[in-house]
Amino acid sequence: MTQNCQLALVLGDQLSFDLPSLSALDPARDWVLMAEVAAETDYVPHHPQKIALIFSAMRHFAEALGERGYQVRYVPLDQPGNPGSLPAVLEQAVAELSIDQVHLTECGEWRLEAALRACALPITWHADTRFLCGRDEFARWAEGRKQLRMEFFYREMRRKSGLLMNGDGTPVGGAWNFDAENRKALPKQVKAPMTARFPADAVTQDVLALVAERFSHHYGSLDAFDYPVTHAEAEALWQHFLDFALPAFGDFQDAMATGEPFLFHARISAALNIGLLDLRRLCADVEAAYWQGRVPLNAAEGFIRQLIGWREYVRGIYWMHMPEYAERNAFGNTRPLPEFYWTGKTRMKCMSQAIGQTLEHAYAHHIQRLMVTGNFALLAGIQPSQVCDWYLAVYMDAFDWVELPNTLGMVMHADGGYLGSKPYCASGQYIKRMSNYCGDCAYKVSESTSEQACPFNALYWHFLMRHREQLGGNHRLGMIYKGLDKMTEAKQDALWTRGEALLARLDAGQAL
Ligand code: FAD
Ligand code: SF4
Repeated sequence: MTQNCQLALVLGDQLSFDLPSLSALDPARDWVLMAEVAAETDYVPHHPQKIALIFSAMRHFAEALGERGYQVRYVPLDQPGNPGSLPAVLEQAVAELSIDQVHLTECGEWRLEAALRACALPITWHADTRFLCGRDEFARWAEGRKQLRMEFFYREMRRKSGLLMNGDGTPVGGAWNFDAENRKALPKQVKAPMTARFPADAVTQDVLALVAERFSHHYGSLDAFDYPVTHAEAEALWQHFLDFALPAFGDFQDAMATGEPFLFHARISAALNIGLLDLRRLCADVEAAYWQGRVPLNAAEGFIRQLIGWREYVRGIYWMHMPEYAERNAFGNTRPLPEFYWTGKTRMKCMSQAIGQTLEHAYAHHIQRLMVTGNFALLAGIQPSQVCDWYLAVYMDAFDWVELPNTLGMVMHADGGYLGSKPYCASGQYIKRMSNYCGDCAYKVSESTSEQACPFNALYWHFLMRHREQLGGNHRLGMIYKGLDKMTEAKQDALWTRGEALLARLDAGQAL
């Protein structure tokens, strides 16, 4: 009797040795399939460093699987006959290797999962257990709630994981959240730690050459690529963060500074999202560092909240509401994304810093994404799908399940307040408080209506005025609308006129 032969298709963001679809295989008999395909590289113009990371990490992972005794069929991008899409590569492998059963772990993108589910093949789907909260579990939690709140979901995850919990079910430190302590600007005398860098080995150099040849027309530079591409390197990046940055992570989580792209951030999101790091291990390490007295509670809790709170929360929302979530546009925005998002050529210092480091490193930290580039797109009324495509393209860590809800829901409020209770809109005063950008800017943050006034100021009030009908009843914006109403009519008119002029310049294709 012939034995059934099975195959697991392992995707570029599934590089984990304990991936459920891999665990289903008998390495001595079955096959692993991995493929670099054109369809995944250009549905948005991905940053060349993102493509390089994924291809290099895939090649290293395939090698490591081989060392563990797996038979791996690896299809490089430039292999003659590469059919160019994952469903086609899979169908070809199933036919050529006489496969009886395919194993797949849930995808990170609705688009790809729909395409693979449409294949007429015997596929067993496995839940992605690398997350703490399964898709169904999230849907059960969310059922019947009109609006979701991350904070309540996060408490459930704290209880479920037991992280930073006392034996009696109360949170360590007497509160669930220490965010109020995590909003300090960076004092001049505080220096960010050196970044851990990983030189390119021969495999990565081959990939960098391939990417340089094939994707030089995509925005972003390959020059500064120094990212971990193996599990061991990702672990080294993580240990570097634990030792040098985590203690101050909480305090300066929201700070921004000229020429400091990483500050006290972990820079682990890309490695985590593609499977080089394990969520539960990271959380256990952070908790242990707290109990050992190596990091304060606001840093440990703040970090764990990002991982088991925000990260799991946005994933749950994504899978509950795709594909229609991607179409939402609650403010009816129609303005195209300004060209300077792709070039960084703007006189606004905060924007040129955030975009410039994005082009150089495929990285910006959360507050730059939310309160600088995101805030501008929200205030300027940019079409949400264009903003989402930009974030998906330019960041090394960007995968639809995490990028889309963060951009469409958190930044653009395009889901009408389902993900977050109010828009994260802010004037230049917020950026001034949290950064040193304004001192060196061509615009004046203290002015709102003059020709040299900070564009964020008038655009902020213009946004609130033009969306009064939708936002006026939001109790979290009550004080702000009261402030607007206290302004003289002349002041309100001047803000509106300046806002209109700025938007007209964008419409004329001019950079600000
Ligand atoms: P740190 O600041 O050190 O935080 C630690 C970890 O917490 C991150 O590595 C990440 O895994 C997790 N985390 C923190 N905030 C979030 C969040 N809001 N959602 C999910 N995870 C979070 N993150 C992505 O991984 N991929 C994306 O495509 C992505 N797109 C974003 C788009 C926008 C508009 C915004 C506002 C945020 C986005 N984020 C995304 C979340 C966050 O900005 C990045 O995870 C973070 O900047 C990565 O850098 P870090 O590893 O240094 O993070
Ligand atoms: Fe940004 Fe305005 Fe400050 Fe310039 S003045 S850096 S545009 S917030």
